Amino acid sequence: MRAFVVAGANEASVRDWPTPSRVADETIVTPLLAGVCGTDLELIDATIDPTYVRYPLVLGHEWVGQLLEPAEGIGPPGTRVVVEGVVPCGVCDCCRRGATNLCATYDEIGFTRPGALADLISVPTRLVHAIGTDVSLDDAVLIEPMAVVWRALSRFPLAPRARVAVVGDGTIALLSAHMVRLFDPRVIDVIGRRSEQRDLALRAGATSFHVNPTAESYDLVIEASGSIDGVASALARCDRGGMVILLGLPPHGSHVELAPDDVVNNDLVIQGSFSYTSEAFTEVVRRVNQLDLQPSFLITHRFDLEHASDAVAALRGVQAGEARGKVVIAMPAHHA
Ligand SMILES: [Zn+2]
Ligand SMILES: [Zn+2]
Repeated sequence: MRAFVVAGANEASVRDWPTPSRVADETIVTPLLAGVCGTDLELIDATIDPTYVRYPLVLGHEWVGQLLEPAEGIGPPGTRVVVEGVVPCGVCDCCRRGATNLCATYDEIGFTRPGALADLISVPTRLVHAIGTDVSLDDAVLIEPMAVVWRALSRFPLAPRARVAVVGDGTIALLSAHMVRLFDPRVIDVIGRRSEQRDLALRAGATSFHVNPTAESYDLVIEASGSIDGVASALARCDRGGMVILLGLPPHGSHVELAPDDVVNNDLVIQGSFSYTSEAFTEVVRRVNQLDLQPSFLITHRFDLEHASDAVAALRGVQAGEARGKVVIAMPAHHA
């Protein structure tokens, strides 16, 4: 079969790859559509913490596919599915208390096991979720990044009428603005970097979009830029008694200055959020199946598998004057 493989640092190409063989408790799925994100760039560049990757690696952790064969409790062949990427052991202390994202054995599709940018993928059957026939593939492909955002939002006791800021204007930032709407905030200000992202941010549900940080302060600041400047800006914008959620992933080994007296005096909570729990993923699937979340307008760039490196190039560099939301790759079976 064909797959988009990272052999090592900066060695990514579409090539032949062994077809997965049948394994007990696993199901073979045909990927239809997959997103790529900044984390894929870190995997290609090998700048990610080595704890979280195993090369050579088939990329692809944001995706939707269809069952190749019947799967018990899920459906017949052709059933469209999404699959939790984090593979929890189910028996460690973290898994037992529901923190499956912190499983003692880190294992994730597209990181430590083959991803979905391939003609076929084998996945643990217990992690497969069917999606409704009225859900579009373009909405479903965003379930994985939405699960990341949902997990982060569920860390904050979100009262209605909260003032929320999102720092960043990439997909996770835009999805944060889109999803926090469900908690009925008073304002959702997106503090971005490129004015070209304004329309996407407003469409996502932002009440306003700023390229330069405002003097406002907020009950909840979601840092989704993954930059040191973004973290500093997020901390500075958080009102007394508020929370900063760090969702963007700055480069491994970077540091940020912090005024601890401000954290104490302002009664701040600084909350990290890693990946997503099984519970968060399941909740997002439920809401997508109810058509409560339809984020497909965020898809701005589309490629096919044989042009996966063009998708990576689109992700790396933006053209002046061009909005960039989610970059997706349509798999061969999507065209069939
Ligand atoms: Zn991603
Ligand atoms: Zn575990």
